[in-house]
Amino acid sequence: MRSGAVLILVVLACAYAPGAQAFARPVTAADRALLARPATSEERIAEGVAERLTGHKAVSVRCTPMNLYFKNVLGVTPMLNGHAFDYFLMQTNECTYLAWFRESPARWDPRTCAPSDCKYTIDIVWAMETVAHESYHLLGYTNEAQVDCYGMQSVWFVASRLGASASEAEAFAHLFADRLYPLRRTETPLYWSPQCRDGGAYDLRPASHAWPS
Ligand SMILES: [Zn+2]
Repeated sequence: MRSGAVLILVVLACAYAPGAQAFARPVTAADRALLARPATSEERIAEGVAERLTGHKAVSVRCTPMNLYFKNVLGVTPMLNGHAFDYFLMQTNECTYLAWFRESPARWDPRTCAPSDCKYTIDIVWAMETVAHESYHLLGYTNEAQVDCYGMQSVWFVASRLGASASEAEAFAHLFADRLYPLRRTETPLYWSPQCRDGGAYDLRPASHAWPS
């Protein structure tokens, strides 16, 4: 029996989340069973992005429905004493959105999409931000505001890796930064920081005034 508790770090979509967004639970048999099976093609897409973002050679991602203690959880990274295990979990839908996007990147361009497609661009950009967010947890970061800021600054990279043109990747980065990130200030304040800005403490590229990428 493992004695240490594992801190589970999550990314939340938005709205209506209660106060605490990190909690502890032991590694479960369900985690081990998920990791024991081969990755699906959708999981491989997320793994490829996470491997490039982290520089780690063998990241495992598993897409699975998660019913946790609070709603709107998109991803979960188990950590123990500040150490992650090169795997994270994402809600099944998040992986599906990444696969949709990679299948046809131009179709979902926020600047030019058909109305029937545009309604999914918010979901798609949340999925992009989630895979980036969890990747920073794999690197050992545990401060959710810092991790989410880094994730936001990596949306363009995720979009680009999945096939977006440079300008489309920028459009997705701005979609998240301009429309979704400000909501965090009131809805999930643990994930928001005034330092998440050009020149702020969480600016990954302080020498550049381009923002958020
Ligand atoms: Zn997190």
